[in-house]
Amino acid sequence: MHILVTNDDGVSAPGLLALVQQMRRLGEVSVLAPDRNWSASGHVKTLHRPMRVTEAQLDDGTSVLASDGAPSDCVALALLGLLPDPVDLVVSGINPNANLGHDVTYSGTVTAAMEAVICGVPGIAVSVDAPEYHQEQLDYSIASRVVHRIVSTCLREGFPKDILLNVNIPYLPQDQLTDIRITRLGLRVYRDKLVRREDPRGRPYYWIGGDAPTGVPENGTDFGALAQGAVSITPLHLDLTSYDKLETLIDWQWVSEDGESPQEG
Ligand code: MN
Repeated sequence: MHILVTNDDGVSAPGLLALVQQMRRLGEVSVLAPDRNWSASGHVKTLHRPMRVTEAQLDDGTSVLASDGAPSDCVALALLGLLPDPVDLVVSGINPNANLGHDVTYSGTVTAAMEAVICGVPGIAVSVDAPEYHQEQLDYSIASRVVHRIVSTCLREGFPKDILLNVNIPYLPQDQLTDIRITRLGLRVYRDKLVRREDPRGRPYYWIGGDAPTGVPENGTDFGALAQGAVSITPLHLDLTSYDKLETLIDWQWVSEDGESPQEG
């Protein structure tokens, strides 16, 4: 078993080290992670500049690889041949904040696992639900043991190649974690506000501020699981087709009755 570990917080993030240490119990681990923080960078494919890969060291002395590409670039580089041995599984994280609902489209953590799926390798994205804008160092020991449990289960059961698992773990003491639940994506409620200020030269600049997002803790969703102290596992595929709207749109009259061709406005 050869596991590629990456993240979106950068190679020196403590969540990555905790994940690497647990994954080593399951097989050979390679690390290729961004050399800086790419949180909320979305799904990136760097095509218009070269990328560099350098050696780095984790806090426990492990030699790893870092790149100036995005998290998804790191996965692509590794799986396209930068690593000599074939990779069986990509695990991304551990991100310090939850990636729930629409977050999955912004998240570098999740899009790294999406890139794995595109390359034909199963992916797992892992985040803990620590408070937004926390200052103190987080303890990843409980979450990383939960990931070990989840990956062991996947290896035993056999992992379909065409999906990724989006895992979110409550930031709670072990005895307060209630359950592991299979969920669907819930509804994120963003509370972004546009902040307009002036730079020292008097020109306006813009910053997306506002309060931390919330979500609807509906039963069966990722938000619902976390609200009840449970680990959430959401299986995701990359087919964003809205199947329930297909029928409606097929019934629309796309060509006018007087025979106007689709090219005419
Ligand atoms: Mn992050």
